[in-house]
Amino acid sequence: MNAQVFGRVSIEGIQAIALSRNGGTSLAPFGALNLASYVGDSAENVSANLAIAKGLVSASEIAVMNAEHGNTVHVVSEPGVALPGDGLITKQTDLALVALAADCVPFGLVDSVNSVIAVGHAGWRGVLANVMQALLDEFVASGAQLKHTQAIIGPAICAKCYEVPAERVEQFRDVRPEAIAATRNLDLIAGVKSVLATQVTKIHEISGCTLESSDLFSYRRAAGEPTGRGGLVIAISAS
Ligand SMILES: [Zn+2]
Repeated sequence: MNAQVFGRVSIEGIQAIALSRNGGTSLAPFGALNLASYVGDSAENVSANLAIAKGLVSASEIAVMNAEHGNTVHVVSEPGVALPGDGLITKQTDLALVALAADCVPFGLVDSVNSVIAVGHAGWRGVLANVMQALLDEFVASGAQLKHTQAIIGPAICAKCYEVPAERVEQFRDVRPEAIAATRNLDLIAGVKSVLATQVTKIHEISGCTLESSDLFSYRRAAGEPTGRGGLVIAISAS
């Protein structure tokens, strides 16, 4: 497999890939395949890396999420950096969608029958705000049917590595207990999965811990130093 691709899922001509941090043009500390324009990397390098990303899903245009750790979702039909929000949806053929992440959970929705795709981004705030349900609701409003919908969950920080203050864990007790792994640990992937699992027909997991794998970007591993963002890329191919 291509070094830039950490994992790939193909669903009836729709390609979804989780990107590694390898094989791009950005220099340290952003690390080669950085797709985020807001971390201090040069616009030229980010643009070159976005060109690589869209090529990997055979798309000629790419729209990038502008995450704000909430539950705002946008339907897009144009390339470029989207309005602030944590979900993007398109019915546009040949337009790749990117959910940027580095420890947060990037996830995607695919309805290959109605040709609708979506990407989402959920850190602890997004799981609490239920960006998962917001994306599902807008996905259906855009013409998708849950009976034809499959989900993809990309790599994120694992529960063992994701230690947080006990008070934060308590915030999940009544809202999203599925995300509680221990008194000081949250399982963000379990939190995302708990909402998707009851509504979509299948979940494909591209597993890996962003903090433990040197092939992935990790905000926590960077420990205050600048780092890049990878994430999940999905496109409906033109062919
Ligand atoms: Zn881990």
